[in-house]
Amino acid sequence: MVYDFHTHTFHSDGVLSPVELIRRAAVNGYRVIGIADHVGLGNLESVLRQVIRDCQLCESHWNIRALPGAELTHVPAAAIAEAARYAKDLGARFVVVHGETIAEPVEPGTNLAAVRCPDVDILAHPGLITLEEAQLAVRNGKFLELSARKGHCLTNGHVLKMGRQAGARFLVDSDSHEPGDLLTDAFARKVAIGAGLEEEELGDVLERNPQALLARLASAMA
Ligand SMILES: [Zn+2]
Ligand SMILES: [Zn+2]
Repeated sequence: MVYDFHTHTFHSDGVLSPVELIRRAAVNGYRVIGIADHVGLGNLESVLRQVIRDCQLCESHWNIRALPGAELTHVPAAAIAEAARYAKDLGARFVVVHGETIAEPVEPGTNLAAVRCPDVDILAHPGLITLEEAQLAVRNGKFLELSARKGHCLTNGHVLKMGRQAGARFLVDSDSHEPGDLLTDAFARKVAIGAGLEEEELGDVLERNPQALLARLASAMA
């Protein structure tokens, strides 16, 4: 069973359509795929509208949960709360913030804005996250991502160290942009262990934390 809340389609810079991405995920053993294309304020509505329709289509025919979401990417930190609210109002089931990866010039303050924002669910690849940011993530119920993506994964060890001190909940996400990026159960375990997790922690990170997030998203819908 694979859970992955961070994937991209050709509605941003991924190569696959939502339908093909979901099809390939189902074949890879995914139980849940979250689509979180790169958005700002301008493309949020059109991207979500299209992704929502294809998620509904696939869920009604295949045995996979396909959740339409959004990744607020290089959105000015001061506008993250507004953009996250807008995404949820447009039907995003979950909101990811593109955190302060060391691989890109993300605006400082992005991690902090994300962990403070009520409408954000996941802080992706948070780079050199501080202990204070990790503590706020815990207090405000955010999940911290351990990334399988090249570049972003360089700080997984640091993210784990800060998050552990704070008592954070982690997820492993693929940040897929092409078919070969999708996780398998075996590869997700390797990414988790590579980040520094112990064997006995894998059940939480790969299964119970995703289920906890799903339960929270379901209760937000009710
Ligand atoms: Zn991308
Ligand atoms: Zn990102």
